[in-house]
Parts: sequence; structure tokens; C-alpha cells
Amino acid sequence: MKTPIPDYLATILDQVRDQDGGRMADTVDELRDAPPERLALALCTADGHIYDAGDAGEEYTIQSISKPFVYALALQELGPDAVADVVGVEPSGEAFNELSLDENNNRPVNPMINAGAIVVNQLINGAGSDVDERVEKIRDLFSRLAGRELVIDEQLCRSELAGADRNLAIAHLLRSHGIIRDDAHSAVLSYTRQCSILVTTRDLAVMSATLASGGVQPLTGEKILHPEVCRLTMAVMSSAGMYDGAGRWMADVGIPAKSGVSGGLIGALPGQLGIATLSPRLDTQGNSYRGVRIFGKLSRDMGLHLMSADHHAVPGVRSVTRDGDSTVIRLQGTINFTAAESILHELASHNLGGEELVLDVSRVTSFNRMGRRMVKEGLRRLRESGFICAIYDPEDVVGDLEFADGTYADTVNEL
Ligand code: GLN
Repeated sequence: MKTPIPDYLATILDQVRDQDGGRMADTVDELRDAPPERLALALCTADGHIYDAGDAGEEYTIQSISKPFVYALALQELGPDAVADVVGVEPSGEAFNELSLDENNNRPVNPMINAGAIVVNQLINGAGSDVDERVEKIRDLFSRLAGRELVIDEQLCRSELAGADRNLAIAHLLRSHGIIRDDAHSAVLSYTRQCSILVTTRDLAVMSATLASGGVQPLTGEKILHPEVCRLTMAVMSSAGMYDGAGRWMADVGIPAKSGVSGGLIGALPGQLGIATLSPRLDTQGNSYRGVRIFGKLSRDMGLHLMSADHHAVPGVRSVTRDGDSTVIRLQGTINFTAAESILHELASHNLGGEELVLDVSRVTSFNRMGRRMVKEGLRRLRESGFICAIYDPEDVVGDLEFADGTYADTVNEL
């Protein structure tokens, strides 16, 4: 059986492909001239299963999506109190490059706007660090998070630095209040190099999955960040990751997220998934126009909103047993997207024997919409590949037994 998840992702991309709202970033030539039609979506589960669609292997600069990860590194190196001394955790309701500080204590209000990110960058590798060593520490962290060696786009970095007046103004303001010690030029150089690291949409999905799974990189198994660091980082992403679109985002999509000016967008669903999209045209808030729409669809279709009630991840498959010619697959718990993904992964990789297959859902507490749709599609595909399939559902938890092609699932009354 071939898992239907990549098909779902491709369908979602097809649904937004024609939408050409938003504008290319125009700060530097490299961003303005990037291919505007690029479109990608990638998911990485906490188990390290990756699914993608579209241009998920194309590289672009990470830009502001670097901010949560460098914030996490600062929290890890210095602890939350020392970081809280120089940057707040309140939403700003302002544009990313606003020249503003908290009027009570002169700190940037959060680490997701440029002022906050410039301060946080300065914390890495100790007060006496030079720019190269600090940036190397960040590049090394990002590489471990992505599970491959990442490099800096030197050409784009030079262009950004040539037009960095606003970030320089922010750095001067920070320095005038004694919040950073480096001179404004090295502070902006260091921050801009962090923004110029090249990633793919797949990399970003894996990096966000590491945040989502409490700091364990799902592919390499390396414990990179403390769980508390990930929790705090995702909390700040949920209130400030989308700049002044953050409230609307939390209401509509409900996934801790961060956007970047290259058109990347990440979401980290605690305990479950890392998600990333790419589409370079930006809306008036500076967030990817189609990316925001893809996330809206994913959240609604797949039941991913953090405030929805169906977030209980249990291993969806209880057992797979063989009895003569028939294989019985027992499911359990609440079947949401994450549980269904693990079930489909199991079904696709298991060498199922025999001719008959019974899906026992008697221990399933409930299915959400996406969980039901995915499990039924898995069963339909198994039937298509030649198995005689049936569902054992004494308490009628599946409800609607119609498959996507209009046929119906067979049922058995006893096991
Ligand atoms: N390097 C960019 C800047 O600081 C990043 C901004 C962004 O991605 N929103 O201007």
C-alpha cells in the first residue's frame, strides 16, 4: 500500500497554486528576482517520517525563520532569566522592522521582531565572542537541527548588508540604551549572516519537528534542545511569530509559527509535527500569501488547531496479528492526523500476509475527520492492491463507511 499523505499534500498545493496575491519582497535584488511561482509543503512527524510536495528541495535563505531557533539557542546557553533581562515575550502588534522598544524598560518586546532578534543574536557564544565564532555556532546548530551541513549565501548577505539602514538604526537605538555592547555594524553583520543561511522546505520541516518534539531531532535522534526551551520558544512563536498578523493567525490556524521574507513559513505542533511551506509572494503583514492559505487549509482539514480538543497522541496501532489467511490490525485511542499517519506508515511498511485483512476498531475511542478519512483511504488502497478487506466496528465509531471512490467498506460482525 502506498500511503495517501503525499497525495493530500499535493492536492493542497494545487488548491492554492493559482492564487497570485501578495508581492515579492523588494529589499534586495536576490529576493525580488526569486522565482515567484515556487511552491512547496513538507511535514515531518516526531517519529521522523517526512512527506513533501512541490519544490520542497529548493534552497532559499532562512531569514526571520532563524529567529525562533537562535532564541532557543540563547535560552539553552544562558537560561530563561538571563534572556528575559534583554528581551520580552509580549506580542508587538507591529511590523517586523519597527524601530521600537518597550517604554518601561527599553527592551525589545519579543525576539521575533528584528530589534529582539538582533539582541538575542548578541547573546550567543558569550559577551566577548567575535562575529565569526558566534555565526559559526548558529550555523552549526541549524545544521544539526536540519540533519545536514548548511551554508551561508554570501552574495545575498552582502546585498542585505548594503541596504541594512533600518536594522543599523535599530542596532544604534539598542546600543544607546546599553542593551547591546557590540558596535551597530558588527551586531547587524552577525544578525544578517544568521538570516542568510540556506535551507530547503524539507530542512525547515525537520527543524520545526525538532522543536515540536521537545528538542530531539527526529532523524538523527540527537537531543539538541531542552524540552523547556522548546516550550518557551513555541509559546513566543504562537503570540508573536506572525508579526502583526499574530492574533488572526492564532484564531484561524492555531499553530505556533514563524514566517520569513524569502516566503518560507514554519509551524510546530507540540508533540506531533513540524510543518513548512514556501511561496515567495508576501501579504501586507510580510507573511507568505499562499503559505498562510496552505496553513489555514491544513489546520482545518487535518484538525491541527492547538485549541481543538483532539490532541491526544497514542500509538494508533495496538497490534497486527496473523491467523491463517487473515491478518487482523487492531487500532486504539483517538485517531487524529498524527495517529492515522502512524497507522498508514505501519500498513505501508508492514509485509502484510494472507488474503484477508480485518481492521478492528473496537478499541478506538474516536476518529476526527482527517483520521477517519486517512484510515479509510488506507483500507481502500489495500483493497485495491488485492486484499479482501473489512472493518470490525461493533460500536460504530467509524460511522460513514463510504470510501472516496463512492464504494463502501465491508464489515464483519465478529472476530
Ligand atoms: N534579514 C531580514 C531583515 O532583517 C529578515 C526579515 C524577515 O525575514 N522578515 O530585514
